[in-house]
Amino acid sequence: MARRKRYTLKAKQISQIERLDLMRRGIQGIIVDLDNTIVSEDDVYLSPHSEAWIRDAQKEGFRLFILSNGKRKYRVDYWSARLNVPALSPARKPFPASFRRAMASMQLKPHQVIVIGDSFHTDVLGSLLSSCSCIQVASLPHPPRWWEKILGKWVQIPYLNAEELWSADCEYSYP
Ligand SMILES: [Mg+2]
Repeated sequence: MARRKRYTLKAKQISQIERLDLMRRGIQGIIVDLDNTIVSEDDVYLSPHSEAWIRDAQKEGFRLFILSNGKRKYRVDYWSARLNVPALSPARKPFPASFRRAMASMQLKPHQVIVIGDSFHTDVLGSLLSSCSCIQVASLPHPPRWWEKILGKWVQIPYLNAEELWSADCEYSYP
């Protein structure tokens, strides 16, 4: 099979990504960002249906790995355990070392892996430097850092206010 070219797509939120489409594109592994992608960095909002989406992806045989630049390791460990997805933090994205470690752990090559994250300068740039494809999702609402007030609009897609949001406290119960 011919090697497919890497690509960058956009989606509003994780749960709107069609896994069947990923499969058709030969994707077997998903490197996913945590902060403002799955959960807001202040732990207020959860990306709607994201836990179900991740569990369904695991059932379908996708290998997942969390790469977080977050420095609060206990928090990344919590979400890693809650989602049952191995994690590495701080990942120092966009530098490719952690992407390579994630791919080695998943035993996959770059053309088999998609990166899902909300920030251009970490997730999208990291995917480019690692030759993986990428889907940039809208950033969950979060208190802006000083640089985000200036540069945020260039590197992130704002989460539309009209979009449904979930509280991070609502533990997902699977039928
Ligand atoms: Mg993020």
